[in-house]
Amino acid sequence: MANHTTINELQGMPLAELHSHVGGAVDAAVLWTLAHDQGIKLPTKNYWEFEKMVTVKRRYRSFKEIDRAKYHWTELIQSSPVAMEPAVHQTIGGAYRSHHIVLHEIRFNPMKRNRNGERDLDYIINASIRGLERAMLEYPEVRAGIILMLDREFTFHQNEIIYNKALKYKHRGIIGIDIAGPQAKEFKMKNYVDLFCDAKKKGLGVTVHTGEEGQRKEMAMVVKEIIPDRIGHGIKAHQDKALMRLLVEQGTVLEICPTSNLKVGVFKTVAELKKAYRTLFAAGVKLTINTDGPEMYETNLAKELEFLANNNVFTVDEIKKCTDNAFAATFIKERSS
Ligand SMILES: [Zn+2]
Repeated sequence: MANHTTINELQGMPLAELHSHVGGAVDAAVLWTLAHDQGIKLPTKNYWEFEKMVTVKRRYRSFKEIDRAKYHWTELIQSSPVAMEPAVHQTIGGAYRSHHIVLHEIRFNPMKRNRNGERDLDYIINASIRGLERAMLEYPEVRAGIILMLDREFTFHQNEIIYNKALKYKHRGIIGIDIAGPQAKEFKMKNYVDLFCDAKKKGLGVTVHTGEEGQRKEMAMVVKEIIPDRIGHGIKAHQDKALMRLLVEQGTVLEICPTSNLKVGVFKTVAELKKAYRTLFAAGVKLTINTDGPEMYETNLAKELEFLANNNVFTVDEIKKCTDNAFAATFIKERSS
């Protein structure tokens, strides 16, 4: 059918990925070599068992489960400057070669890569920036940037340190901040309103992981009080007309990640996913399509587009609109030369 060829055409066009965690974006074979280069003791000596350890093969009950089971290993292996430079370099280069991703925002939490304070954060961040710059030198068509992540399980003080690093490296490839991680008891998003507003004022892009696993109230507060440029996921808004209206009025863009939503268990079926995505789209909310970490979820951006088209979640024209939204909503400033 015509649909098929058109989605192929779209897959061949330059694409933009806005929501990809470095902890989920590095090829298992690269991670394996990096672990061996550093002499990290892994629970297996068999590569294929390791590959299973760092990918999500089945549906999980929550993100927390994936965080503990999978991210633990990828973050441990990436916890050194020696690992971060090739991790970032190969992720951006690989995505360009395989799927023509010419605009690529990646994100990570540097404090989850410093072995509890053993490593210096500046070295971790500098190594990632070097990886970014090398990838852009090799592939001049690519524009890439890094979002530093704060975490719900960290203290405010720890998160403030990460925020200050984002400001420090703002002119060197750090393009924004985000907060993620499983819901923690003591955590209150309200305490971060000032920090995120300050980040916006100082020229950093602002996105927040919320409205993914049933924190609609938190999402509504974030949208109202922070007025972020983008929201990571935010799909719970489909149950709230007033919130959708606010997203449209403010032009807040959602970063949706279909395969991740299914594997994390946010949606139990494709039909549920379709209903939510279509409701958001019909309300006029700006959507972008992302992987959340292609290697971990065994996907890639081209596959995500195809999944949406094949399951009639969106028409190819609608998917094209989402890819246009991604180019428009990037935190990466135009290069002057
Ligand atoms: Zn995410």
